[in-house]
Amino acid sequence: MSETIVIIGAGHAGGQAATTLRQKGFEGRIIMIGDEPYVPYERPPLSKALLAGDIEVERTYLKKPNWYEDKDVELRTNTRATSVDPAAKSVTLDDGAVLSYDKLLLATGTRVRTLDLPGADLDNIFYLRAIDDTFAIKDRLTPSSRLVIVGGGYIGLEVAAVAVKMGCTVTVVEGLDRVMSRVVCPEVSAFYNDVHTQAGVDIKTGMGVSAFEGNGKVEKVVCADGNAFDADIVVIGVGVVPNVELAEECGLVVDNGIVVDEFAATSDPSIWAAGDCTNHPNSLLGRRLRLESVQNAVDQAKTAVGSMLGEPKEYAEVPWFWSDQYDLKLQIVGLSEPGDEVVVRGDPADRKFSIIYLRDGVFTAINTINNVKDFMASKKIIAAGRKIDPALLADAETPLKEL
Ligand SMILES: Cc1cc2nc3c(=O)[nH]c(=O)nc-3n(C[C@H](O)[C@H](O)[C@H](O)COP(=O)(O)OP(=O)(O)OC[C@H]3O[C@@H](n4cnc5c(N)ncnc54)[C@H](O)[C@@H]3O)c2cc1C
Repeated sequence: MSETIVIIGAGHAGGQAATTLRQKGFEGRIIMIGDEPYVPYERPPLSKALLAGDIEVERTYLKKPNWYEDKDVELRTNTRATSVDPAAKSVTLDDGAVLSYDKLLLATGTRVRTLDLPGADLDNIFYLRAIDDTFAIKDRLTPSSRLVIVGGGYIGLEVAAVAVKMGCTVTVVEGLDRVMSRVVCPEVSAFYNDVHTQAGVDIKTGMGVSAFEGNGKVEKVVCADGNAFDADIVVIGVGVVPNVELAEECGLVVDNGIVVDEFAATSDPSIWAAGDCTNHPNSLLGRRLRLESVQNAVDQAKTAVGSMLGEPKEYAEVPWFWSDQYDLKLQIVGLSEPGDEVVVRGDPADRKFSIIYLRDGVFTAINTINNVKDFMASKKIIAAGRKIDPALLADAETPLKEL
């Protein structure tokens, strides 16, 4: 009898899993449950090309809407899974339906971290996670708008880059002492700080937002140190939290994400998990981690499908990530840590350079700015865990692939 695989979460990992299942010849029933009104889509354009109006929404879809029908994937949008019963192997939906599964994939992703501050419920305060958030923000951005962005991470800065190009007055308020501090070294933060400042964005670091003020609509963003910024619209980008409640409530092991092994298996033999919602081991990095990236969603979904189909293959990829701001493509491979030795390769003034991170002499991570060749070459070097002479790395004339 053919099997039924249920996928909870119709995002990047869920969409990839359905695709890989059919590509690998799985002929059983696939049911995908998604609480958004759209077919699975890519989120990166939401703070970039879609917000800028450079692409239509259909370009964000992983597959055309008719693909699901053509491939016999039962996609239930606008539907939420409310509970999982591992003993009965069933999922209950918010419309009351109960679905039986042979195998279940949790691909529930993350949701935005919200700020519980006075005035946080005023109109024109937004978070950015879904297509409709992008549309709501875009609708309100006009050349005369004063936009205050809370959080100088990559999403906040991408929105800043788009909005300042539209002619908006943009202020970024960041609580820490530099932008993107979670993912890049001080040199890269300083470079992006300068680029944004030159473009007309006012970046305020070391300022914690304490309240929003306004009459119905937001008018001011107030900081704990007494500073305040006029605002017609506010976008908050202060991180995400994993959607683990379903997993937790049905007794799976959860610890900053759904705990899975290197084959994407959870603590229940019939349930796997993939994407932003997982806490997974990576033997290349020698530790467990939770990642928020397309690379992880795609690769881990493939691993989960392999395991479900009885073709297990360890998930051990070098993480990589990108961010587009203005004419700059930032690509990050590997994970840097405070204390890593930093090697600058090329001249930031050329708007094309790389920063290499060495830990105990080993090439562990790189940030490339408009430098695709370094990006491509570094994946293999990082996977190999090699020590390379910093003087050689600093010579931008020597291609990394020769090292
Ligand atoms: C604005 C923005 C820009 C980004 N830019 C980049 C970038 O440049 N590069 C990069 O690598 N990554 C980027 N990311 C991150 C990347 O999009 C995520 O890592 C990726 O989407 C994770 O995929 P996922 O399937 O794990 O989660 P998601 O894509 O979040 O999908 C999870 C889905 O499950 C749904 N869901 C959750 N619980 C339930 C339930 N109980 N029932 C039904 N449905 C449920 C959620 O609503 C969601 O639709 C960006 C993210 C955002 C928001």
